[in-house]
Amino acid sequence: MIYSAEFPFERIIFYVSDRIDRLETQEIASYIHSTIKKPVVMKEDFFHEHRNDKIFESIASTRVADLNSRKDKDPLPMEIEIEKKILKGKGIYGILYDGWKLSKNMFELLSEEEQKDHIIVITDRLIGTLERGESRYHVRTVINSLPSIISIPGIVEGPAKPKEFYLETEKRFDFKPMEHEDIRMTKAVKSYALQTIFWRLTGDPFCDKIGCPLFNSHWQEEVIKNQIEGELCEEHKAELKRSV
Ligand SMILES: [Zn+2]
Repeated sequence: MIYSAEFPFERIIFYVSDRIDRLETQEIASYIHSTIKKPVVMKEDFFHEHRNDKIFESIASTRVADLNSRKDKDPLPMEIEIEKKILKGKGIYGILYDGWKLSKNMFELLSEEEQKDHIIVITDRLIGTLERGESRYHVRTVINSLPSIISIPGIVEGPAKPKEFYLETEKRFDFKPMEHEDIRMTKAVKSYALQTIFWRLTGDPFCDKIGCPLFNSHWQEEVIKNQIEGELCEEHKAELKRSV
């Protein structure tokens, strides 16, 4: 189908948690700017920039308490204290946050001006969602929403490794799964940022062509093939050309 969509925003803002190492944020900014031809702004940790009295409670309320249920739960005082420590720079271990709830709470913190932008929050938090038809939460790499969220640990822990990877340590694989502090993470973030942008542009963040960074990868092997080594397919390149 040929149609020409217009970007529903004039500016892209990235918020990057300062607890993330080895991410070339300027490289991400110039790549997205040269691809989309819109101004790109890089900012610090989202919650530092939008800090208020309720922020710790607001983040803690999005913690997943039960992997099989989306039910809301009031955060415990201890969980609120943990969020204070995290914002002071303490590492995050073993906490899963509901991606949709987190995004909704973030949206409420945006100024009216920012609500017109395309916001991408790059976080070191582990994000999950429990979708219709699923019986439990799954770890996600990206949440296409307002604002969109890209989870760095989600890129490592979301897409699965082959079973043999755990069983036969001797077996060689022709790809190297993503690891924490992987130098390829910059490339992965560029690809997932494009997904969020296409989601804003067309409503569909995904492509079914292998080798396109918009491919919906469920396996680490696919992440390497598409998000790390891939480039936009002709169809998506043409779609961008019509829109920029
Ligand atoms: Zn494509």
